[in-house]
Amino acid sequence: MTDPQPLAFLDEFRSPRHVRGQLKKLTTRQERRTRIMEVCGTHTMAVSRHGIRQAVPDWLTLISGPGCPVCVTANRDIDTFIEMAMLPGVIAATFGDMLKVPGTRFGLAEARSRGAQVQIVYSTLDALRLARENPDKNVIFFGVGFETTAPTVAAAIHEARLTGTNNFFVFSVHKLVPPALEALCRLPELAVDAFLCPGHVSAVIGPHAYQPLAEQHIPCVISGFEPLDIMHSLNMILDQLENGEAKVEVQYSRGVRAGGNPAALEMMDAVFQPCAAEWRGLGTIPGSGLTLREGFAAHDALQRFRVDASYSREPSGCICGAILTGSKLPTDCRLFADVCHPDHPVGPCMVSSEGTCAAYYHYEI
Ligand code: SF4
Repeated sequence: MTDPQPLAFLDEFRSPRHVRGQLKKLTTRQERRTRIMEVCGTHTMAVSRHGIRQAVPDWLTLISGPGCPVCVTANRDIDTFIEMAMLPGVIAATFGDMLKVPGTRFGLAEARSRGAQVQIVYSTLDALRLARENPDKNVIFFGVGFETTAPTVAAAIHEARLTGTNNFFVFSVHKLVPPALEALCRLPELAVDAFLCPGHVSAVIGPHAYQPLAEQHIPCVISGFEPLDIMHSLNMILDQLENGEAKVEVQYSRGVRAGGNPAALEMMDAVFQPCAAEWRGLGTIPGSGLTLREGFAAHDALQRFRVDASYSREPSGCICGAILTGSKLPTDCRLFADVCHPDHPVGPCMVSSEGTCAAYYHYEI
């Protein structure tokens, strides 16, 4: 693993001259069939929005991975939260993207029209405030997200315990990125040559978290989100492949430190412990989720509210699962841009602002 190196053009990361320079370096390389997965949904959006997929040479394929938290949330978990929302005396608190995601029977938006109290919040602390303002209700927050979100949710749970806010609960379906990438590497049909790793998640977990992937001969470069960052990261990956190397490098040195964010990691570890988690498309991956530790069980929605979502199933015709593992493209889905559209999405990849189908719909057709 190499230490983060500051970019020489740190304050010029939007410079068209540098973008052209990185693109020229990419396009004048010796041709070699290469598949690089951009793991993060924000990278997927940036790749689509800036036409990077079309700009890179034909021999270089950029495939999108499981980096959209809404998209990877299993339908069973979405249905479970909807069932919780329908319980009397409950306020279901969620980030906005989840509202439009269809459930098996109906989504949260329809649950609201059927009488459920569903409240959009912009932070976990908003949900905690909601609990304090409504002491006669049980507020259940839908804990969806990766290592970027989990520390703030942990902080809210910690605060709830400290302040005796006993009507605040979290349904934790948080996911951890490195175990999912290791699971992806075990898929024979994926055959990914390298990972463009997420900047925000890596700012929390630090670059060393990807070391097991490098030891499996998969180069990993943690990238920023500007076109220049992505082009630069692709060149760093291709340099590694050309040199027969596989190591973890940090291109996004303005956001990622060698040790990650120790305070965030400490808070996350104090409240949560790893557990098996079900990912849409990837199935159940051991150690890839976060559940509340015993000391915080009083705030665990899953322990407090017993609901049945055993009827849950994937939306008919939707291939989100295959898209999240990089084995299919949105344009392979027969529902894409016709039956399934941002205004009437069939699957989560068309709903989320980080979803691959939404990215293709907005920028690549
Ligand atoms: S286009 Fe719609 S139905 Fe098809 S995979 Fe994407 S989200 Fe699912």
